[in-house]
Amino acid sequence: MEKLIIIGSGPAGLTAAIYAARAQLAPIVLEGGFLPTGDLMTPGGQLMITTEVENFPGFPEGVTGPDLVDKIRDQAKRFGSRHLDAPAEDVDFSGFPLRVKIEDEWVETATVIIATGANARWLGLPSEQKYMNRGVSACATCDGAFFKNVKLLVVGGGDSAMEEAVFLTRYASEVTLVHRREEFRASKIMSERAINHPKIKVLWNRSVAEVLGDDKRVTGARLSSTVGEPDLEVACGGIFVAIGHTPNTQIFDGHIRLRDDKYIDVVGQASTSAKGVFVAGDCADSRYRQAITAAGMGCMAALDAEKALDDYEAEGLL
Ligand code: NAP
Repeated sequence: MEKLIIIGSGPAGLTAAIYAARAQLAPIVLEGGFLPTGDLMTPGGQLMITTEVENFPGFPEGVTGPDLVDKIRDQAKRFGSRHLDAPAEDVDFSGFPLRVKIEDEWVETATVIIATGANARWLGLPSEQKYMNRGVSACATCDGAFFKNVKLLVVGGGDSAMEEAVFLTRYASEVTLVHRREEFRASKIMSERAINHPKIKVLWNRSVAEVLGDDKRVTGARLSSTVGEPDLEVACGGIFVAIGHTPNTQIFDGHIRLRDDKYIDVVGQASTSAKGVFVAGDCADSRYRQAITAAGMGCMAALDAEKALDDYEAEGLL
C-alpha cells in the first residue's frame, strides 16, 4: 500500500510533494494527462500557460510559469517524490485503504491529496469550436507569437484578460478588449495598465456572438450588445478567450462533496468530506487562485496527510 498519492502537478501538488517527500513518505505524484472524459489535466497546471510570474516571493526579477514549475518539481524530486506521467482515471474513497486507478490498475493508498487545478473556460459557441487553433486561443503565451502585426480581440474583464491583452501587444498591431459590462473585474493596477496602453482599445458592454472566418482562419467577430445596441462586426486575425476557469473535479463527483459550482468543498483547512483525502489549490479555491496560495495550501494538505498517517500508524492500520 502507498502512503500518499498526490493527484496533480501544479504549485499545489508539487509543494505538497516537497513536504511529503521531506517527511519520507515517498509520495507518488500523478502529473496529469488525458482523462477518460477526453479532458486534459495539464502536467504543471496553469503555470505552464502563464507568461511572467511577478508575484511569487523569492523571484525579484520574475520567473516564467514553466520555469517555476520545473524548479518546484526538482525540489520535490530531490527528497524522493516519485512522478508518473499519468492522471488519476478513477477513485474509490469508500473505505480504508483508499484506491486510485492509474493506467488501468487500482493502486491502494492510505492518503490522497487532490490538487487537480482548473481549466480555462470557453464561450461555448459552435464558431469558436470551428476556429479553435485557427485563430481562437485561450493562451497568449502559447500562441501570441503566431499573430504578428494583426488585430486581435481579447474577451473578458478579469486580470487574465488584462494580462493577455498587454502581453499580446508585443506582437499584434492592435488589441481590443471586449467586455460584457462597463467596468472591469480586474485589479486597478492591471486594468489601468491595459486601459492606458497605446495599442489597446476597449469595447464595453459587448459579447462575442459569432466568430467569423473564411475556410482557413478567423477574420473577425460579430459582437452583440448587452445594453440593446445593434450588433457590431469587427475585423481581427485572432480571438483570445480569457473568461475564467472550471475546476478539474469531474472524477471526484460522488466520491467527495463538491460545492454547487463544482469546486471541492473544503472541510477545516485542507480536508475533504472523505477520510484521508486532502485537497489543495485551484480545484478547491475559486477566490484567490494564485500560485502562492495553491502552494501554501499544498503545504497544509501535506502536513495534514502526514498527521493522518501518524494516526493510522497509532491505530495499527499501517
Ligand atoms: P475572473 O476574475 O473570473 O474573470 C473572468 C472575466 O470573464 C470576468 O470579467 C467575466 O465577466 C468574464 N466572463 C465570464 N464568462 C463570460 C462569458 N461567457 N462571456 C463573456 N465574458 C465572460 O477570471 P480570471 O481573469 O481568469 O482571473 C482568475 C483569478 O486569477 C482572479 O483571482 C485573478 O485576480 C487571478 N489572476 C491574477 C493575475 C495576476 O495577478 N498576475 C493574472 C491572472 C489572473 P464579469 O466581470 O461580467 O463577470
